[in-house]
Amino acid sequence: MDDLDALEGKVALVRVDFNVPLADGEVGDDTRLRASLTTVRELARRGAVVLLLSHFGRPKGKPRPEFSLSAVLPAYRAILGRDVRLLENWTKPSAKRAVSTMRPGGVALLENTRFYPGETTNDAELAAAMATLGDIYINDAFSAAHRAHASTVGVARLLPAYAGRALQAELAALQAAFGQSQRPITAMIGGAKISTKLDILARLITKVDNLLIGGGMANTFLAAQGAAIGKSLAEHDLKVAASQILDAAKREGCAVYLPTDAVLAKELTANALSRRTTGIIDVAPDEMILDIDPSTTAAFAGVLQSSRFLVWNGPLGAFETPPFDQATFALARVAATLTRDGSLISLAGGGDTVSALSQIDVKTALSYVSTGGGAFLEWVSGKPLPGIEALMNE
Ligand code: ADP
Ligand code: MG
Repeated sequence: MDDLDALEGKVALVRVDFNVPLADGEVGDDTRLRASLTTVRELARRGAVVLLLSHFGRPKGKPRPEFSLSAVLPAYRAILGRDVRLLENWTKPSAKRAVSTMRPGGVALLENTRFYPGETTNDAELAAAMATLGDIYINDAFSAAHRAHASTVGVARLLPAYAGRALQAELAALQAAFGQSQRPITAMIGGAKISTKLDILARLITKVDNLLIGGGMANTFLAAQGAAIGKSLAEHDLKVAASQILDAAKREGCAVYLPTDAVLAKELTANALSRRTTGIIDVAPDEMILDIDPSTTAAFAGVLQSSRFLVWNGPLGAFETPPFDQATFALARVAATLTRDGSLISLAGGGDTVSALSQIDVKTALSYVSTGGGAFLEWVSGKPLPGIEALMNE
């Protein structure tokens, strides 16, 4: 944004990530809303009209009220301290007219980009519809930069494109942290988005000394090794890919740690009565692995103790539902303590991972917390992010 010329009367399209968790219809964690403030305020102060673009949940290409960004608007208005209007049906000519009536410094939020099927396919027509609304494009959503979508790549190629302040700060912080990285480097990966993150693991094993796998991610690996995992969250059609990663890790000299025991239950409810801790070979067909157990947690903690650099994405269990939060919280505390003691540089990222860290107040105890999950992992693994490439190759 340092390269921006005069903005008075210009319309700036700004890609933000307002895909925030909701609790009872209200914004649960507003980290991502606040992340956009620096850019939006700077543009408004310089006299631009600001149009915010974001996805929200997975409406699968159709306008569905439960995925309307109107749910986020009251919280965002309060944070920004001014009125923000919602622009629906923004591919219609009437939207262009509405924008032309906005005053310099005015801010509007375009309805969920994923209400259109062309968003995730990076459709040229949808990107053109976005581009006709603005004069310049700014991407300020690091956490969406790993996706080649119309609002992150297509539109960036049609308008003069810039990196927003939050995106700039995020890249600078990641680069600074990696500039200090020392071996052994450990990656701790959990969470639920297995299919989107498996490719990244294949790259990560070439970069790190240790790979700790927990959460839903571990289940696919356990199944690949022939364990019966009952009705645990897993992607059985990715078992071959998981085995290949384990073989490649061996060749690369990357030590992979999988859970040896697990906390199981028949249903995912708080304090589920059916819960028990057992060897992973003992899972019954009607049981699910919902957390790694204390002995695996201790083993993972031991690896962290002998590590100098940690990259963490993905909760190690279904942490929203106690007591399946035990391993996630325990290892977050270990990482925080080692960081405070100066023996570990710790980086964590991911919407849910960050929300877990916030819940036990250790967010500020880690060296750096990224807004991105998938984007964070892809950046760490050395993969170019399409949303950032699109800003450089205009
Ligand atoms: P992030 O948002 O940090 O990138 P993900 O979105 O990939 O992480 O995954 C977070 C989700 O994974 C959480 O909702 C958590 O409940 C879920 N999860 C973790 N472990 C398990 C498990 N063993 N079974 C089911 N869900 C799990
Ligand atoms: Mg998530």
